[in-house]
Amino acid sequence: MKKPELLAPAGNLEKLKVAILYGADAVYCGGHQYGLREGADNFSLAELAEGTEFAHRYGRKIYLTVNMIPHNDDLIGLPDYLKQLQAIGVDGLIIADPGVLYFLQAEGIELPVHLSTQANAVNWASIRFWKEQGIERVILARELSQEEISEIREKTELELEIFIHGSNCISYSGRCLLSNYLVNRDANRGKCAHSCRWKYYLVEEKRPGEYYPITEDEQGSYIMNSKDLCLLEYLPEIINMGIDSLKIEGRMKSLHYVANVTRVYRRAIDAYLANPVAYRLDPLWWEELKKINQRDYTTAFFAGPPTTVDHNYHSSAYQRNFDFIGMIREYRPEKGEATVEVRHKLVRGDLLEIIGFDGESFTQRLDYLLNEAGEQLESAPHPRQLIRIPVDRPVQPYYLVRRERNEPRS
Ligand code: SF4
Repeated sequence: MKKPELLAPAGNLEKLKVAILYGADAVYCGGHQYGLREGADNFSLAELAEGTEFAHRYGRKIYLTVNMIPHNDDLIGLPDYLKQLQAIGVDGLIIADPGVLYFLQAEGIELPVHLSTQANAVNWASIRFWKEQGIERVILARELSQEEISEIREKTELELEIFIHGSNCISYSGRCLLSNYLVNRDANRGKCAHSCRWKYYLVEEKRPGEYYPITEDEQGSYIMNSKDLCLLEYLPEIINMGIDSLKIEGRMKSLHYVANVTRVYRRAIDAYLANPVAYRLDPLWWEELKKINQRDYTTAFFAGPPTTVDHNYHSSAYQRNFDFIGMIREYRPEKGEATVEVRHKLVRGDLLEIIGFDGESFTQRLDYLLNEAGEQLESAPHPRQLIRIPVDRPVQPYYLVRRERNEPRS
C-alpha cells in the first residue's frame, strides 16, 4: 500500500514550521507575487529560503504556488522569479496557466511542475494531455466523485493530488467572476473577496435602500454558502485508490487550524497504514476537527453530487468553539514554567489546553501569570506579549495553547 503525502498549507513562515512539526510530509506556500491568496502573509524570497531549509532539515518538501492566471502585464519579471525559485531549491511549482509552463520550459527550469486545481482537471484524458506537456503531478478539481477519481487513477500514471479538507469554492475551482464584478477583486489573480458567502437581498430599482430578504425557506437564503470539505471518513478508500498526495486547504487559515487539522490527518493516515484491518475512525479526531473554526462539514462531491445538506443553512460565519491563545516559545523544566507568546487575552485562573506535536493534549490551570520581568499579572491582553505560565507537563517551542470559549473565567 502506497503511503500518501500529507500536504499542509503554509500562509507564512511560522505556519510552515508548525505544519511540519505537527506532521505534514510537505507544505505549499506562495511568494509575494503570482501565487493567488493575496490575503495570506506569503513569503519573501529570504523567508522562502529559510522555509525550504527548515522543511529539508526535517526531510519534508516544499511546493510553491505560481498559480495565478496572469495577464500580459503580470508576465513582466516572471522568468527571473522562476529562476530565483529554482536557485532556492523548492521541491516543485504549482501552476495553472500554460503561459507559466512556457516560461519554465523556455528558461530550462527543471523543477517538478504540479498542475493547480485552478486548471480544472476532471477527466483522465486531460491528465494524459498534461503528462505530455511535462507536468509531473495533477491536483484534481474538487468536483469529482470517488468513482471518477478511481477511474482517473486506473487510466493515468501521473502523480495525483486531491483536496481532503478545507473551504470549498462554490464555483468550479475558481471559475467565478463574482468577486471581480462586485468589488473588482480578481479571484484568479489572488484577490477573491469570498463574495459567495455574503448576504444577498433583493432591491427594486426605484426603492434604493429597501432590502427584501430572499428566502429559500424559513431560515433564509444559502444558495452559495457551502459547508467545509472533510474526507476523514473516506481516508481508507482514498489511500487504497493510490492517491499520491492528500491536500489540506487553507493558506489564509490560522496557526491553530494548520496544527490541528494536520495532526488529525497525520494520526489517521499513520493508524490506517500501521494496521488497515484494525483501523477505526477515532471519535477524538472528529472532536478535534470541530474545535477549529469551521462552517460544518461536507464530503462535497466525493460521495455523490452535493445536495441541500451540503450547504450551511444557518450562517456563513465560522463556528468558533475555541480561542487560539498563543504559542509556547520556551520551556524551563527546572521551574515547571513555559513562556507563551500571547495571541488572545490570557486571564489568571483560565483553564487552557496545550496541544503537543504527538497528538496529545493536556489541560492547564493558570494559577499565575508573570511578565518577562517576573511581575505577577492578573491578565495579559496584548498580542505578542511574552508571558510566563506554569505547566504541569513538559512542553516544547511551537506547542499551541487554546481555551474553550464557553469555559467560565474565575
Ligand atoms: S467568490 Fe466564492 S465561489 Fe467565487 S472564487 Fe471566491 S470563493 Fe470561489
